[in-house]
Amino acid sequence: MSLKQKVKLVKLGKLKAVENVMNFSKKISTPKVKDLNIFLHLNEEAIAQAKEIDKRIASGGSVGKLAGLCFAAKSNICVKGIVANCGSKVLENFVSPYNASVINKLIAEDAIFLGAVNMDEFACGASGETSAFGPTKNPVDPSLIPGGSSSGSAASVAADLCDFSLGSDTGGSIRNPASHCGIVGMKPTYGAVSRYGLIDMTMSFDVIGPLARTAEDARIVFNVIRGQDNFDQTTREGGKEKGGKTGVIGLVDVSDYCGKEIADLIETRTKEIADKKGWKIKKIDLPLDIALETYYILVYTEFFSATRKFDGRRFGLKIDEAGGPEVIRRIVGGSEITKAEHEGKYYREALKARNFIREKFEKLFAGVDAIILPTVPRTAHKVGEKISIKDMYGYDVLTVLANIVGIPAISVPAGEVEAGRPVGLQVLAPHFSEEFMFKIAESF
Ligand code: GLN
Repeated sequence: MSLKQKVKLVKLGKLKAVENVMNFSKKISTPKVKDLNIFLHLNEEAIAQAKEIDKRIASGGSVGKLAGLCFAAKSNICVKGIVANCGSKVLENFVSPYNASVINKLIAEDAIFLGAVNMDEFACGASGETSAFGPTKNPVDPSLIPGGSSSGSAASVAADLCDFSLGSDTGGSIRNPASHCGIVGMKPTYGAVSRYGLIDMTMSFDVIGPLARTAEDARIVFNVIRGQDNFDQTTREGGKEKGGKTGVIGLVDVSDYCGKEIADLIETRTKEIADKKGWKIKKIDLPLDIALETYYILVYTEFFSATRKFDGRRFGLKIDEAGGPEVIRRIVGGSEITKAEHEGKYYREALKARNFIREKFEKLFAGVDAIILPTVPRTAHKVGEKISIKDMYGYDVLTVLANIVGIPAISVPAGEVEAGRPVGLQVLAPHFSEEFMFKIAESF
């Protein structure tokens, strides 16, 4: 059932908000689902909130656009009274003192928060395995990773434990697990959604976005959470959209970066839909050769800076002592890159590369309306399988450019390869052209 249909039923009183909460809660508490290790903390007040919504409906009062819908949020998004541990021992007992702006917006539309879900520690990871509270498993096949870092956000939607969820995307963390779990994950334009109440990973890349079963559902949630927010000075309304002028879609040549079966599937699907819709396809190149180097130098530097506040005095434990291996790697790396004796040389080079990449995209978008490429270059590995750091970072090669440039991107299911492993197709659009991007995504 689509979100639109469900809200309609709730508003008509044909489906009680309470029933909706109970249905999900029952499933969440079954041993099979618990074994997937998706939820970290449940909202004890969900039923009471649902009752209040049902009462308002019964008495003819007005309710919001998301009335009765249940959602999960990544454990780095603050929800008042709920532990936001970021998948880390460092913040194991950190109870959020306030709601993130996105949470306030969803609650104002009468959506019901079900609980906080598992994630890679401090959003550092691409598999869902770096959480201090154990790996999340992929509902499509529990022997596989669900992807990350928004592992629980994707798995909760794929396992049908909520109507939609929120994740955060710094270099692909919404799109990557959406791709591996066979659902939709959307990364908004940087600044389109408030980061107030999101525990930072890399401030100049981070953005909160929705994960859902369809592009239409994701669009509905995005339109609720988007918009300028006085608590986050980087937010903007957006204004007029740029998409849809040329009728041309850029299909990225990923042959040097991606498994052949995946690349072929994306190309076939794109051609199929382009034929139907009358789009022209133009083969294009992206600066994929410098994507990871640029991304990781900036991430290490900003992550090092962002985590200095976790010194064990105000929030939980000292991160340099209680953080897991991937977190420590980034802290050590970030501290090295920013050493005075390097005089900012690596960081400055990365900023130059970032500008170069931005200009490249600006030129590309003069000739194409949207860009299509696979979301992840390979399929999900087995939980616990030994993966080199290089291969783990390699998962991000096709997603990080959108964050470096700050443009919106969405991953939609494209099909399966290797007997049942989901593959996602990614659509990229110019800054603040989300409506257009959703239109393209919905065609798939
Ligand atoms: N896998 C990427 C990283 O580890 C992306 C993380 C994210 O988007 N939060 O940095």
